[in-house]
Amino acid sequence: MSKLAICPGSFDPITYGHLDIIQRGARIFDELIVVVFNNQAKNPLFSAEERTALIKECTKHIPNVSVDSSADLLINYAQQKEAQVVLRGLRAVSDFEYEMQITSMNRKLDDEVETLFMMTNNQYSFLSSSIVKEVAKYGACVSDLVPKPVEKALIAKFSK
Ligand code: ADP
Repeated sequence: MSKLAICPGSFDPITYGHLDIIQRGARIFDELIVVVFNNQAKNPLFSAEERTALIKECTKHIPNVSVDSSADLLINYAQQKEAQVVLRGLRAVSDFEYEMQITSMNRKLDDEVETLFMMTNNQYSFLSSSIVKEVAKYGACVSDLVPKPVEKALIAKFSK
């Protein structure tokens, strides 16, 4: 049976930290769908369409990765795709409580969808989309933190 996982998040925008999790996940699962969830409460900088397009551009070299977006509940999306696994990245202890809460709720909704955590690469343990946006806003170089298309999109966004 082929194993399908979904990798959900806001990806506002995708960073090298996300990409590392996606690349490693793609080596474990037969198919990996990266799904942009549009959490308006997070007041995103990029629209869901822009975020999806950037992820597509940055993952086009990985054949078993596809990109989608959804306004649905994560567990409904996973059920609809018949995904067995939800893949998430973990950075520091600070991520733990939030992830634990979401995972517990998702398990309550459907205990057949398993959430798996992958530890960040040390290199990216302090990297987040928020910090990238904060730095890019002041014109600082983010080329070590995000892929080239994302860097360009950030420059374009903040030069407006
Ligand atoms: P969300 O809003 O759902 O937390 P994010 O886009 O912030 O979405 O993150 C999506 C997933 O990627 C989460 O599991 C998050 O912990 C993980 N992630 C974010 N940044 C990194 C990083 N630098 N290293 C590893 N995982 C990361």
